[in-house]
Amino acid sequence: MLEVKNLSAAYGQHPSLNDVSINVGSGEIVVILGANGAGKSTLLRAISGICEGKVSGRVTLSGDSLTGLSSDAIVEKGVALVPEGRGIFGDLTVKENLLLGAYSSRAREAERENLERVLSQFPKLQERQSQIARTMSGGEQQMVAIGRAMMSAPEILMLDEPSLGLSPLLCKELFQNLTHVRDLGIGVLLVEQNAKQSLAISDRGYLLENTRITYENSAAALANDPAVQRAYLGAGSKTSDKPSKRTSAPTEAMKRIRTAVDPTPRRSADQQIGGSIDDLVAIATKTSAEAPRGPSKETAIAAKQLAHSKIDVVLKDIEQAAKNARNRSSSEVQKLRPTPSNVSVEADNALPPVIEVYKRPRVEIYRRRPSGQFERD
Ligand code: ATP
Repeated sequence: MLEVKNLSAAYGQHPSLNDVSINVGSGEIVVILGANGAGKSTLLRAISGICEGKVSGRVTLSGDSLTGLSSDAIVEKGVALVPEGRGIFGDLTVKENLLLGAYSSRAREAERENLERVLSQFPKLQERQSQIARTMSGGEQQMVAIGRAMMSAPEILMLDEPSLGLSPLLCKELFQNLTHVRDLGIGVLLVEQNAKQSLAISDRGYLLENTRITYENSAAALANDPAVQRAYLGAGSKTSDKPSKRTSAPTEAMKRIRTAVDPTPRRSADQQIGGSIDDLVAIATKTSAEAPRGPSKETAIAAKQLAHSKIDVVLKDIEQAAKNARNRSSSEVQKLRPTPSNVSVEADNALPPVIEVYKRPRVEIYRRRPSGQFERD
């Protein structure tokens, strides 16, 4: 139903998404797994029309093009996003937050029914309708955020790391609630780092690595793939069962996965460094064999004495510097402070790196008219 084809996004010169194609059907939970900075949030933001960077590619919902539409038009078509960090209105009540989710005309017509559906689906929200949102626990606030998105009567619900900061118990409850959303026939696109629990409730999954989709399979197959287990499920690590970033060379299984989706032959290490690895290994082995095995006893003692005398000199320097600082008058200290002129000379000498950050500041104010309708100011 949601079809994303060759979606790319870049912030200035910095590509954050490359040629991504995915799809989500009705009543299906699809998870996107990826490490920090892989481009997961950018993908959801690009689909929802709120990506601050330059976006290209094609997005359709049940054949209707969403490409280039404004974010509210995309909500109107039936795609809702629960952003990372929830974005709820902390000073409003739970019910007010939920009603704000029904601002689109597709949702306004059935506001009462939607509210009843959301409240029956999330019984906790039913009990807490008049509670000020910011006084709720993290997990409850996440429910409010999901409930608010559900108030727009979406066909596709997208969630950006909803389990972030939640206890294992709350995560379980949250993921359980997402299965209820699926049962309503809504497609769920989930971006997560909690691979274990998200794969457990998902139907399918994609791996997004370094801006590209590198693998796709059923959630069960992904959860059982040793390479995925090592990369995202922390298999083999005794200290954590959280997904870890891969730092070692790709395993055979991961190479197999990569080749399945990217048939471009990879250059061997020999080709990349322009010489033979075997030659380098031979040179390294020879050098290490020729190197002295270790210092003699006399050399070791002499080295120790030298180190001690060096440390003594440094300690004396530090003591002297401390004495000088103590004796210095405050006017002298003042002189040492950087003046605007010497600051600018230093600044000129060391130009800070340029970091491009693209932001589209926008605050939209909606008023609820006595008729119950929302109107944009
Ligand atoms: P995380 O799991 O840490 O949230 P992510 O996979 O969601 O990571 P993105 O937030 O999509 O990653 O970011 C992908 C890349 O795009 C990162 O290198 C990030 O620095 C860059 N990026 C994201 N937003 C902006 C922005 N507004 N301006 C400039 N660069 C950005």
